[in-house]
Amino acid sequence: MSLLKTDHLSKTFGAIHAVDSVSFQIEAGEIYGLLGPNGAGKTTTISMICGLLKPDAGEVIVAGGPFWSDPQKAKSIMGIVPQELAIYEELTGRENLEFWGRVAGLKSGEAKTRTTELLEALSLTDRAKDAVKNYSGGMKRRINLGCALLHRPKLLLLDEPTVGIDPQARLNILEFIRGLRASGTAILYTTHYLEEAEKLCDRIGIIDHGRLLAEGTLSQLQERLGGDRVFVLEADFGNASVEAWDGFLQRFRVIQKAEGQLVVAAIGVRDPAECLRELLNLPIRVENVTLKRPSLNDVFLQLTGRSLRE
Ligand code: ATP
Repeated sequence: MSLLKTDHLSKTFGAIHAVDSVSFQIEAGEIYGLLGPNGAGKTTTISMICGLLKPDAGEVIVAGGPFWSDPQKAKSIMGIVPQELAIYEELTGRENLEFWGRVAGLKSGEAKTRTTELLEALSLTDRAKDAVKNYSGGMKRRINLGCALLHRPKLLLLDEPTVGIDPQARLNILEFIRGLRASGTAILYTTHYLEEAEKLCDRIGIIDHGRLLAEGTLSQLQERLGGDRVFVLEADFGNASVEAWDGFLQRFRVIQKAEGQLVVAAIGVRDPAECLRELLNLPIRVENVTLKRPSLNDVFLQLTGRSLRE
């Protein structure tokens, strides 16, 4: 059974379709990545899943039951890690966790035991008695994550949990999240970092302007480009246009055309050496051709015409 299912979830703010008919589901022990640029609709989606916002249309189903038929029950199985830090700077790490344990309904003794466990798991035991205001950015993010975990949620919603921290601190958090997956937690992970989605998520939904444009495992998304490799052609294109090259668009899918660079994927199953020969024989001065596995950025480019890195 899915821990979370969204069914044609929609929300508008005035003229803005912040979330437009978004449907996906997440199983136990799975990390589902919602990948999209700023303003794509990720936070609005999470806000509807946890009941902060009511959808205009569509439904959120948590562990088989519609959210709004029993919000308390649905909330009791989820943990939410908001993008903005939701911690008390003046309190210590231990006090923050214990506080959120009590909010989640744990008895005092239970909250203390669970806090000790989490401090250990988050590698914060030696800083447990320091005020959070003296923590590094990465440590604050870890406490922020811990605050959602006191009641051992089966479903964890993470809204860009690594924003603004250094690469090492990010790796620590990703490793911790992998541990939660291994213990059977279903995880929704929103991010605009391609590398995180590629390395961490079992399945990825690409969202832009409120719409889920594509969904699948990394290799399923790569296959949408027509294979597991793309060609990056650097050349002096002058006034040349791909449309004018005889039959080119029947044999290659254009992923991106920018000044001095053309990124294409072969259509159908084709010998890469033959593709390479054809590209080198184009009526332009080719400076370089490289072959690479398509990234999620290439997939995003093909879907939207824009780069996620811009
Ligand atoms: P970010 O990574 O920047 O948080 P996001 O993908 O989470 O982006 P949302 O915050 O969900 O995107 O925003 C989606 C769209 O809805 C944006 O155009 C945003 O400006 C708009 N929006 C979100 N909340 C509101 C609101 N309360 N009132 C009006 N517009 C809103």
